[in-house]
Amino acid sequence: MEPLIGSVEAGGTKMVCAVGTGPDDIRDEVRFPTTAPGETLPRVIDYFRTWQAEHGEAIAAIGYGTFGPCDPHPDSPTYGWVTKTPKPGWSDTDVVGPLREAFGIPIGFDTDVNGAALGEHRWGAAQDVATFAYLTIGTGIGGGIIIDGQILHGLIHPEVGHIPMPRDPAIDPFAGTCPFHGDCLEGLAAGPAIGARWQVPATELTPEHPAWDLEAHYLALACRSLVCTLSPQRIVLGGGVMEQLHLFPKVRARTLELLNGYVQAPQVLERIEEYIVPPGLGNRAGAAGCIALGQLALAGAP
Ligand code: ADP
Ligand code: ZN
Repeated sequence: MEPLIGSVEAGGTKMVCAVGTGPDDIRDEVRFPTTAPGETLPRVIDYFRTWQAEHGEAIAAIGYGTFGPCDPHPDSPTYGWVTKTPKPGWSDTDVVGPLREAFGIPIGFDTDVNGAALGEHRWGAAQDVATFAYLTIGTGIGGGIIIDGQILHGLIHPEVGHIPMPRDPAIDPFAGTCPFHGDCLEGLAAGPAIGARWQVPATELTPEHPAWDLEAHYLALACRSLVCTLSPQRIVLGGGVMEQLHLFPKVRARTLELLNGYVQAPQVLERIEEYIVPPGLGNRAGAAGCIALGQLALAGAP
């Protein structure tokens, strides 16, 4: 039998905890608001304790996917911490320590998007490729990167949401919402940026609204940068904003225009609809990704 994994998706607004072995076997799930760490982490621990007691089954590992920034380097003294985050109360918070202390089992820890990317690689839209990028376009924009089957950390972890965008103020006078950079990708194209620019929540804009051409332009600029830097074999675009499925043809077409024939790969030139794709796991991507992080920890990966 596959070992049971506990999964924790730590979002800026809500925590989602689950128990399962994969996207088709999620046995239980709870949600509660992300408040102060001193209240939230004990609640996570209590959930897994209670679940094990009630079911008489042991959880073998936990996978924790967090909002960032965080320290995912096992050799670092601050491994398993949420580091300098704008989220009140969470700067320099040890997350892995309390879980390890409570359960004494392997704890996988990474960014939520690296987790989601791993889940897509294992079970979703990127099973047949070794190197790809996963972007979520929601409250913020995050990027998870898998290179040759391994999660990319490098210096810290990728921050694809904060790449610069060549904004033309004559076309888009909106200065962007990022407190650090203004008009970076996240500042211009995350859900709240769309809402602020057009003074209408992104969820309420009709598919004909000019907002979506501009959105597709920025996302295509990001895709172009990813193609030219990482050489990914696929780009998976998820998050709430991408529930506007009409964005996909627009992003694909604009990416081709921006690449302007320079990257001569048939996957891009001939089969772009298989190259820029929605997540295969849909709304299970988060929980499945964290389960995958737990499995990785259980397998003894660094
Ligand atoms: P989070 O990033 O908080 O995990 P989501 O990925 O659902 O959650 O992102 C929420 C953001 O995405 C909000 O800013 C919202 O405006 C936007 N959003 C959510 N659903 C949609 C939708 N169907 N169409 C357009 N925008 C959406
Ligand atoms: Zn930024």
